[in-house]
Amino acid sequence: MAERTTHDWQLIYPTWEPEQQGLREALCTLGNGYIATRGAFEEVNAGGPHYPGTYLAGGYNRLETNIAGRVLENEDLVNFPNWLSLNFRPQDGDWFDIDAVDVLDFSYCLDVKCGVLERQVRFRDANEREFTLTSRRIVHQENPHLAAIEWRLVAHNWSGEIEIRSALDGTVSNQNVERYRQLNSKHLDILETGYDGEDAIFLSVCTNQSHIRMTQAARTQVFEGDVVVPTQRERRDENGRIAQHLFVPCQQQKELRVEKIVAIYTSRDFAISEPGVEARKTVRRASGFADLWRSHQLKWRHLWSIADINLENSDIETQFILRLHIFHLLQSTSTNTIDRDVGVPSRGWHGEAYRGHILWDELFIFPFLNLRLPELTRSLLMYRYRRLTEARHLACTAGYKGAMFPWQSGSDGREESQVLHLNPRSGRWIPDNSNLQRHVNAAIAYNVWRYYQATNDMEFLSYYGAELLLELARFWASITMYNADRDRYEIRGIMGPDEFHTHYPDTDTPGLNNNAYTNVMTAWILRCASGVLQLLDEKRREELTEVLGIGDEELVRWEEISRKMFVPFHEEGIISQFEGYENLKEFDWEGYREKYGDIQRLDRILEAEDDDANCYKASKQADVLMLFYLFSSETLQDLFEYMGYPFDAETIPRNINYYMQRTSHGSTLSRMVHSWVLSRSDREKAWKFFTEALHSDIDDVQGGTTPEGIHLGAMAGTVDLMQRCYTGLDIRDQVLWFNPSLPRELSDIRLRLRYRGHWLSLRFTDEKITVSFDRGWSQPVCVGFQGEVYEMVQGETREFKLA
Ligand code: BGC
Repeated sequence: MAERTTHDWQLIYPTWEPEQQGLREALCTLGNGYIATRGAFEEVNAGGPHYPGTYLAGGYNRLETNIAGRVLENEDLVNFPNWLSLNFRPQDGDWFDIDAVDVLDFSYCLDVKCGVLERQVRFRDANEREFTLTSRRIVHQENPHLAAIEWRLVAHNWSGEIEIRSALDGTVSNQNVERYRQLNSKHLDILETGYDGEDAIFLSVCTNQSHIRMTQAARTQVFEGDVVVPTQRERRDENGRIAQHLFVPCQQQKELRVEKIVAIYTSRDFAISEPGVEARKTVRRASGFADLWRSHQLKWRHLWSIADINLENSDIETQFILRLHIFHLLQSTSTNTIDRDVGVPSRGWHGEAYRGHILWDELFIFPFLNLRLPELTRSLLMYRYRRLTEARHLACTAGYKGAMFPWQSGSDGREESQVLHLNPRSGRWIPDNSNLQRHVNAAIAYNVWRYYQATNDMEFLSYYGAELLLELARFWASITMYNADRDRYEIRGIMGPDEFHTHYPDTDTPGLNNNAYTNVMTAWILRCASGVLQLLDEKRREELTEVLGIGDEELVRWEEISRKMFVPFHEEGIISQFEGYENLKEFDWEGYREKYGDIQRLDRILEAEDDDANCYKASKQADVLMLFYLFSSETLQDLFEYMGYPFDAETIPRNINYYMQRTSHGSTLSRMVHSWVLSRSDREKAWKFFTEALHSDIDDVQGGTTPEGIHLGAMAGTVDLMQRCYTGLDIRDQVLWFNPSLPRELSDIRLRLRYRGHWLSLRFTDEKITVSFDRGWSQPVCVGFQGEVYEMVQGETREFKLA
């Protein structure tokens, strides 16, 4: 485990540990919803423990590679030029290299309150010269096109000339994920490099397939105090790497300050002439580090005032990690993301895993955003809406109707899942059928509905959301097949959320039949879509049904299907993950834990043993249990009765227990969902799962995945546990209901949220709930507690005593 300390708002690494650097770089990434840069040191190039990656939200490029006798095409999240590049050397000395000097003192600190990354390193070089370098870095939250570095340099036992090199490095390629290294990774063409006036340089690149042009411009100055030091400058321009060398006198114990201000624009930006013009203009006009730092901090202060979840009296680590999660969420997607036509990537823009693709993880991410920055969720849902045409095409080519969104989505919304993946344990490339996870189409429908519930945004629902829902309902209706023997509808040949099960043991044909989660979601969506149609005003309903060609017959069919979706059960009341699940072998959990220790990815372990996870009752993650995560027992009761199945709430704990014993938690989403579903029945286990989920990234519990990108679903999900699960927050029938049940470890949760245009402050303790209606539109808010509904007006505070 990394040596680290956490404070209320800070993560500090007090020692230099090269083997931890990949993890630290990912966790110390700075971003603003537009651009993100890993927490690599300014002076390093990619290699050894270092990987300076800079990513643009939605900055993809496609490349082909010949592998295992096939041509594979992948759309990657491009590693754009490294704007960090800054180094120095004393006269007759070597360039500073942390791996080559004696590190005497070290600290690396991420401050999530201010969004700043600081490093202090005191070292002795080969010539016995001692220096202290203190650096601060920001990626501006207010003006997304700006980033800045400040270096303070003190020579302790030496005076002389030092040379500072400030560069923009376009020679980078995609090298972050070892498993992808056999694939082509050179995405950038260099367009132009140059100098702008005395102190600025610029670099323009273009991705070689998607033709995204990016210009970075950098201004570098040296100061003594606040006074600019006149410097002799030399220019170097070498094959895509442009640098300025500054020569300055350095006096023993006298601090020199270096500022590097960087502007970044791309051809995808709004209100620009062209990226080169904008970047050069912006860097020229930008103020100094201190001013940028102030406006950056102000933006973060405003963000925290709506986003923080304050746990009074809880342990500091829990509090800090939750803030770290909120921080990374707001760095991956923020107000700067709005209207940029990008989705929310499952691994943040923090690394290259999953190639920055958009999967179903937004299901776990949107609830936090819905109740704080709903205009952001709207924009992220528009990413889906704009890809409806592609989704219709995907449905059509697969033989279905309506719109079928891909499992992995990138630039234009086609299916981006890889067809082969490498098992690093066995070294074998194996077919990847994960694209059969059609349930992403359930998540999108569910997200539309939840967004509407939280916001009452009828405009969105009328003009975009309803169309999405109807086209998704159409797809789901068309993928079902009627089984006359059962008098039920079925879905065959797909995969559920558990990625260990891709086919039946006795066949290579991909897919499984009647994944319970998917089938129940289908019933829910078909019912919901018809209901939404009734919410629209008559004119819009007419327009939409006319455009989409939806007639009464189709609606009747949806009702028939939703009432008759097949749900497999085995044993008493245990919902089968999929049909035939009961015939699989039990897995030797103890034996394998003993043999391998970490068996989270037992699919890879078994494949390397020439065995197959498909043969066993062993799941990677919550699958059936997703139902209890997404729906209250009342809603499920209603839904199952509607489908003609008896539903006894008593069976919920038995289902949870059954699958909990058969899950390896090979996805970070799994523990979070388990914690949620156990939160009322087994608080101790729930807390254990919560803390494990909480540590997924900060301690890289999967042993190597976090350096390739954080896990945004688990991050947002753990925060949402505080927000919705422990508070029992539920929006039903235009009422905001609370039904808190705090874990023993938390005695006081404070948060603010935005509900249908209103801002509410909430406090939950063991004794009471305090709700203050701070400000909002003029309408009252309806708050529900223990069966009663209370109307609250602006300025009002109410307390609800807990029995
Ligand atoms: C999980 C998926 C998830 C993906 C990205 C996988 O390990 O099985 O459910 O969408 O990671 O987070």
